[in-house]
Amino acid sequence: MDAPTKRALRINAIELLRQPGAVKTVDVEVSGEDLDVVHDALAGDIAIEVDLEALNDGIVVRGHVAAPWARPCRRCLKQLSGVASATIDELYQVEVLDEDAYPIEDGQLDLAPMARQAALLELDDERLCREACAGLCPQCGVDRNVESCACDTEVKDHRWAALDGLVLDD
Ligand SMILES: [Zn+2]
Ligand SMILES: [Zn+2]
Repeated sequence: MDAPTKRALRINAIELLRQPGAVKTVDVEVSGEDLDVVHDALAGDIAIEVDLEALNDGIVVRGHVAAPWARPCRRCLKQLSGVASATIDELYQVEVLDEDAYPIEDGQLDLAPMARQAALLELDDERLCREACAGLCPQCGVDRNVESCACDTEVKDHRWAALDGLVLDD
């Protein structure tokens, strides 16, 4: 049997579609497991907070999907954490005419695929501790935000670097 949270993501669309203009609010927290979100950066439950508004030919879903994350800074590897929030503005249709729309199947609107996609997109984002993070020295590994080193890591222009090894034959 499905977890209750998983069931909370499946909405009776028939009822909503009978009353165009009607709005239903869904506010749930689900585990990554319930959403089939397997990601190293996920650090807690995913919050789904959306309004479902019935139209004549479908249901518009608007709101936010928020995922807590924890991952190292891309440059200095310091452990960081936060909550990433994706803005949701999606359409569900019984007869999918809009190519970006999600299907309403058996009278049910399933928020899971939409929330899953939004959460994964947010979790894939690489993070920096700060925009100007100096990162680690590629040679000795010191954190250049904290200390400096004497390594010569001046980046050579690759085009000229290639010529360095070239022996001219004249
Ligand atoms: Zn950093
Ligand atoms: Zn160094």
